[in-house]
Amino acid sequence: MHEQKAIPSIWVTWLSRLIADEIQCVWSVWFRTHFKYEKLNTNFDSAAWNANHRILVNRRINILEAEGYTVYVEGENRFEVLGRDHLVKVAGKPDIIAIKDNYAWVEDCKTGQRKNSDFYQILIYLLLLPISLAPCQGLSVQGRLIYRDEVVEILAVQVNDDFRAQFRAAIAILSNTTPPRKVPSFQECRFCDISAQYCSARVDTYSTQASSEHDLF
Ligand code: SF4
Repeated sequence: MHEQKAIPSIWVTWLSRLIADEIQCVWSVWFRTHFKYEKLNTNFDSAAWNANHRILVNRRINILEAEGYTVYVEGENRFEVLGRDHLVKVAGKPDIIAIKDNYAWVEDCKTGQRKNSDFYQILIYLLLLPISLAPCQGLSVQGRLIYRDEVVEILAVQVNDDFRAQFRAAIAILSNTTPPRKVPSFQECRFCDISAQYCSARVDTYSTQASSEHDLF
């Protein structure tokens, strides 16, 4: 069974992937925004991801504490921002917030392939954290992406009008009571945790129906 949420709730990671145009089936994110449901186990190997991510986060904590930062980690950093008239909320949980002098650095550790959504995820944190998380208030909030082999700084000045417009447009799509299109495909459905019980368009088997032989090449 699925149950409508009292207030539609959007995770920062969903927004960042939508802004980066990394999601074909926007309906899947819209459904997650509006409903609680029983999740399907997908092919994603969360145990291996968690272990690798933990190693990178711990390594980063050690470096920052040695440099004299006060470090807040994951659950300590959970925040929610309610939109106008409480019609929708955005929630997030950055891996690390490190504070020293008048600066708060928000950091996210990435162990997988680099994606454009990594950049947008930090921009969303830079937009929302100064108004939502107590340790960041009154400080200059800047961002860093932590990859295994590189640290990429993302500065608050990069939160410009274009990005704000993209952010608002993504929120408008997900908070709308009219659902967007489903775009079923084996490539996307196999990583989707919404079962056929909720999504009748789900594609669980690979089909070669769309391929044909021709003499163009
Ligand atoms: S199962 Fe496929 S079609 Fe259904 S919501 Fe997920 S990605 Fe979209």
